[in-house]
Amino acid sequence: MRDRGQQVRGVSILGATGTIGEATVRLVESAPPGTYAVEAVTANRDALKLADIARRLGARLAVVADPAALPALREALSGTFIAAAAGPAALIEAASRPAEWVMVAIVGAAALPPTLAALERGATVALANKECLVSAGAIVIETARRFGARLLPVDSEHSAIFQLLDPERLDRVEKIVLTASGGPFREWTMAEMRAATPEQAVAHPNWRMGRKISVDSATMMNKGLELIEAAHLFPVPLDAFGVVVHPQSIVHGLVHYADGSVTAQLATPDMTTPIAVALAWPARMLTSTARLDLALMATLTFQAPDHARFPALRLCEAALAAGGVAPCVLNAANEVAVDLFLERRIGFLDITRLVGRVLDRFGAPPATTLADVMAADREARRVALDQASVLA
Ligand code: NDP
Repeated sequence: MRDRGQQVRGVSILGATGTIGEATVRLVESAPPGTYAVEAVTANRDALKLADIARRLGARLAVVADPAALPALREALSGTFIAAAAGPAALIEAASRPAEWVMVAIVGAAALPPTLAALERGATVALANKECLVSAGAIVIETARRFGARLLPVDSEHSAIFQLLDPERLDRVEKIVLTASGGPFREWTMAEMRAATPEQAVAHPNWRMGRKISVDSATMMNKGLELIEAAHLFPVPLDAFGVVVHPQSIVHGLVHYADGSVTAQLATPDMTTPIAVALAWPARMLTSTARLDLALMATLTFQAPDHARFPALRLCEAALAAGGVAPCVLNAANEVAVDLFLERRIGFLDITRLVGRVLDRFGAPPATTLADVMAADREARRVALDQASVLA
């Protein structure tokens, strides 16, 4: 039952058809009637799935990024009062609708314009997407500050640190540690990884995720992107951030304080929990996720990352230290490289090689405006495609 006088909360879900989007839809759907009013839902081109979600949630607006999918969306929504639209401007319109809480679960840097649009109207933005903060972290954080918007991290490690960190005691934080599962190839040799297929790369042992983040997890680029993301979200010196491999994915993050105390956040590997943390924040909501039983788990193990077999982490650290457009270039090159790998046009080990080559070409000129970032993103994608054709 809802408390008397409690207001209906407006929410929008961008990337509603993806893994994170669907988990968010399930949480919203399972709430007591009258808890949420769904303003907008979006997808790239999966019109049928989007229409089904829009109908179930009673959304006012459904948007596909790809205009070619608009006729199918209109058809699937016929007989309802749900408006249908398509294209980049419609995506921004979806983020601009007056929902107090917006989930950004679009994959890739394509999420940047709608994220900024939601922040510019002072919304609470639950940010699952990590590529936005990697490409344009300073701009995203400054936009949130300027417009009084709130950013709630949804990535499990960042949700963990968000829950652990005392913002009044940042000067007493010695270390922030993100855990990494090590991905499906944690114990594979270089020769085995050289021959790895897309099917093997997306078969993550612990998490059910979209294809792009699954490949990032296999290269460990994901952990490097998360380091950059964390550096924007949590204002401590760069050398305070660290990564430890923890194959069971039960501990998601740790904060070491100056008095020797280390706090850790634990949960079963299910993104429902960090999404629920962001949806209910600062309250806590009931979820039906599997409960953690440490006695059943029996063993939790930790080890240092193997930088020789997984050089992506070092590439990300270097891009973060270089600053300027370097993280944006790294992200754009990685998005291209992952697509090429999934299309079987380059090998698994070529992903990180290609990203390294593109980064070498650019250096780190400053990126102060969104236009600088977008230009660097476009150019890095062009160079990545160009370099991929001469990978030998
Ligand atoms: P999915 O691939 O499962 O879903 C991506 C969503 O974005 C879909 O709704 C897709 O629509 C939409 N989309 C894809 N391309 C575009 C585009 N160009 N413009 C607009 N919308 C687009 O991804 P995930 O749910 O796994 O991940 C989403 C984000 O969350 C990523 O940034 C990822 O790194 C991050 N994240 C994911 C975690 C996970 O466990 N899955 C954990 C932590 C972070 P369509 O269905 O039509 O293709």
